[in-house]
Amino acid sequence: MKSETMDEIELESEKPLLVFINPKSGTGRAVTMYNKYLEPLLKDKTIKVDVIMTKYSGHARDFIEKCPDLRKYRGLVSISGDGLIHEIYNGLFNRPDWSQISRMPMGLIPGGSGCALNSSLLRQLGQVRDGSTSLGPEASANNVAVGASLGRTTPLDLLEIELENGDTYVSFLGATIGIVADSDIGSEWLRCLGYLRVYLYVGTRMFFPKNYRVRLSYLPLPRDANGQVCPAPEDTPLALPKFSEKLPPNWVVEEGDFRLLYAINISLLDPVSLFAPESKVGDGIAWIVVVRSSITVRETINWTLNLQDGPIDVEAMEVIPVRAFRIEPLSPSTGILTLDGESVPYGKFQGQVIPKKANLFVS
Ligand code: ADP
Ligand code: MG
Repeated sequence: MKSETMDEIELESEKPLLVFINPKSGTGRAVTMYNKYLEPLLKDKTIKVDVIMTKYSGHARDFIEKCPDLRKYRGLVSISGDGLIHEIYNGLFNRPDWSQISRMPMGLIPGGSGCALNSSLLRQLGQVRDGSTSLGPEASANNVAVGASLGRTTPLDLLEIELENGDTYVSFLGATIGIVADSDIGSEWLRCLGYLRVYLYVGTRMFFPKNYRVRLSYLPLPRDANGQVCPAPEDTPLALPKFSEKLPPNWVVEEGDFRLLYAINISLLDPVSLFAPESKVGDGIAWIVVVRSSITVRETINWTLNLQDGPIDVEAMEVIPVRAFRIEPLSPSTGILTLDGESVPYGKFQGQVIPKKANLFVS
């Protein structure tokens, strides 16, 4: 006769995966990605799945928010770009059981145009980012299938971000104003080109730069004797002051003209654009990528032509490890702010890193 515990373990391993596929993602390859790469591996490992083809923007988020028995799944899988992952995490964030459910494992299959999180994960694991688009579908499918079969995960930090209008989000990628946000949204109509669409726009901007006057404030994280950044402590989030309130004296404040400010959680923006080379997805650190208006045309060209090598070593560029940040655009008064690559109302925003708040399947 089986004991109660045995039954529980058996039941646990019987749990299906909940797979979201966005058939309308950038390059329209999400369904093929599933059929070609993931489904055969899951069959092989006899992992059951419930598949949801998203029917509209916000579908995954609505489903996650309202699903009464999400715990019947062993994990969630996103087959799309970063937009769908954003929806899934923010759906979880809006649930009353967020503090426990946030750690439900997430699997990533690159079916969209950007795929920043999956690219950063593959880079960190030293896995191949191959194929014509370098998105690494095979390694990704292997991470999901092996991870789900053996229960293997790696921690992922999330940023908790508050906008001036009071809206709060969790973010796995980050929030930005300046050249990246402008090109991301300004090149939406070129989605069919995949992530390359952004470079066409950036190329134009190189010669017609736009500056943003901003007050940038942050709580820096120190480095130890070996030069390693000391991560933010786990389980003790800061109570950030309201926007109308002053920041504590241990924050650094810089007011100036910037081309780019990116509060980022991961290393890559897509398979090639390396923004925070030292970042690991679960390092307990938020990184502020700064490009000041003092950057020269020559430096800009040098940087944009070699994005795969990371930020260049010039005074105008900096990558700062922080625990928390506040970014206040002063002028122009209108612009584009993106959060995980999605446009949100432009204005002040602040946030902090919540170390190891989530988990990703890995092989
Ligand atoms: P990409 O990297 O190609 O932009 P995303 O995953 O970011 O792929 O998806 C783009 C957007 O599509 C997201 O904002 C997502 O909410 C939305 N979306 C999801 N399903 C659908 C659908 N069926 N029709 C239209 N938009 C959708
Ligand atoms: Mg981090």
